[in-house]
Formats: sequence, structure tokens, C-alpha cells
Amino acid sequence: MNEKILQVENLKKHFTVEKKQVLQAVNDVSFYVNKGETFGLVGESGCGKSTIGRTIMGLYEKTAGNVMYDGRNVHELTDKEKFGFYRNMQMIFQDPYASLNPRSTVKEVISEPMEVHGLYKSKRKQLDRVYELLEEVGLNRDHANRYPHEFSGGQRQRIGIARALALDPEFIIADEPISALDVSVQAQVVNLLKDLQMEKDLTFLFIAHDLSMVKQISDRIGVMYLGNLVELTASEALYEKPLHPYTKALLSAIPIPDPDIEESRERIILEGELPSPINPPSGCVFRTRCPMAMDICSIEKPQWQEVEQAHYVACHLYDHTIGNRDPVNT
Ligand code: SF4
Repeated sequence: MNEKILQVENLKKHFTVEKKQVLQAVNDVSFYVNKGETFGLVGESGCGKSTIGRTIMGLYEKTAGNVMYDGRNVHELTDKEKFGFYRNMQMIFQDPYASLNPRSTVKEVISEPMEVHGLYKSKRKQLDRVYELLEEVGLNRDHANRYPHEFSGGQRQRIGIARALALDPEFIIADEPISALDVSVQAQVVNLLKDLQMEKDLTFLFIAHDLSMVKQISDRIGVMYLGNLVELTASEALYEKPLHPYTKALLSAIPIPDPDIEESRERIILEGELPSPINPPSGCVFRTRCPMAMDICSIEKPQWQEVEQAHYVACHLYDHTIGNRDPVNT
């Protein structure tokens, strides 16, 4: 049976910005992650997915809602409990260069969390573990005495992954781990993460804006738009039968390698800019760009509902009480 290791319940994260305006980065988001699975969180830049990752890690205070990890509320942990929590949950960042101290050698970068947590009494054992980790991520022990600037982007991300593994965590939040890498290197890093997951029984929250890469690694996927979760289901179901108009548009933008299919299929071009999370649209937040928007969409926020088995969506098109109405944005 699946064991829910992480539960995000009605999470809200708002920031007060200039002139006391409120930026609604995350609004009422709920999902869970099963032990051993990869849950993908996707959406355009600025949709709130990275804020969710940081709030789960406790790097941001929540505004409302709960984040439960292994049955404990992560925002109510004592300092001692936080120490154990950070041993179990680690993060991989988007920009491997910015996340690695340029003045530290690779050996120092990877061994720092081990020292903070007092993992090894002997320096020799600690160094052996650094060597092991370098080999696990496809580097070698000769790299230990070099500095981050001496490596390519893909190698630097491998160092970031080795550091995240240094405490032998059970859960990793990978925040856009491949976005800064060349396309040719992205698949290598995704494959490395998949291999490590199998070997170490890891659980991943994989945050990305590229749906095609998320598909490669995720068991289930949540799609976000302007701080809201709009659709969530198993990876195959999302690709084979997307329900939300925003998901359909995102998927239609992914090129298909077969030129005949590629030429004949319809692309959904979203009109307009992403609205500001300081002043989001009333009703459905996607309504200003939705080709299927109806009158009700500006009045009522769509409810989060299970439309098919384990397939959730927030869209009035699937309200049985409302039925189909004529689009207003066409
Ligand atoms: Fe489009 Fe309305 Fe559905 Fe929002 S609720 S996605 S505006 S049809």
C-alpha cells in the first residue's frame, strides 16, 4: 500500500511587497507525495512551484495551511526536530553554480553537511564517503580537490546532487534541477536521478517548467497556474487525456519527433500575458487566457474535484451542475 510521506494541505504563501501590496504566490494548494515516488510540479515561471518547495523545506514561513512530513507538521518542529528533518529532506537547486561556494573545493562542498551533522568521527571515513558519492553521481575522486568553476554545468549539477545525498536523505526536492543545463545534458541528469532513486529508495518532488522532461521522471504530476493547482493525475493520464485547458495548451507546445504527426496536430496558443499574482483575476485565475472561458469563470472560483479516478481538476467545464456553456474568449 502507498504510504503518504508528504502531505501539503491547503497551503497558502503570500508575500507583502512594495506599498503593502500582497503577492499571492501560493493559494490553497493541496497534494501528497507517496514514499518512493516522484511527484512532478510543473507550470510557467512565477506560478509558485518553487515557493511551494521552499515552504515545504521551511525556508519560508507558511501563510496558512499545513505541511506534514512523516506525520509531523514541519512548521512546528523544535530546533532539535528540525535537525533530523533536514537530514531526511534535502534540496537540489536550479543553478548549480550559485548554490556551490566558489571558494570551497568539491571535497569541502560535499563534506560540509556531514560535518554540520557530525556524521563521521574520522576524517578518513568522511573523505571515503565523499569519494563514494562522487562515483555515485558519475564523477571521480580526482575531482575532489578541484573548485566548482573548473566544471561544466552538468558536472556542477552532479556535485550539487552529491551534496544533497551526503546525509543519506529519504526525500529530495529538486527545484528546476535541469533548467540551467544544455538540452543534451538534461537527459543525463534525469537518468542519474532515476538511477539514484532506484538504488536508494528516494522520494522526489521534481519541480520544473518543461512538461516533456517531467514526464520522463514523474509518477504523478500536478500542474500549477498563478499560485493555484489546476490539474493533478498520473503521468500517463495527464499526457494521454489532459482535462484542464491550461494543461492542454502546455502539452500542445511540446514538439513531437514524428514530422507527420507534428505537422497535422493543432497548437493551442495562449493569448495575453501571465497576470500579476498581486492582482489575480476573479473567479478562475486562468480565465483571461482561457480559450474556453465562460461567464461563470469570472464570478466563481472552480472547485477542485476528482473528475475521473485519481484525476483531479479545477475547471467549470467539469462541473456537472453547470454543464457546458458557450466560451466567451473565442
Ligand atoms: Fe477556462 Fe473557465 Fe475552466 Fe477556468 S474554469 S479553465 S476559465 S473554462
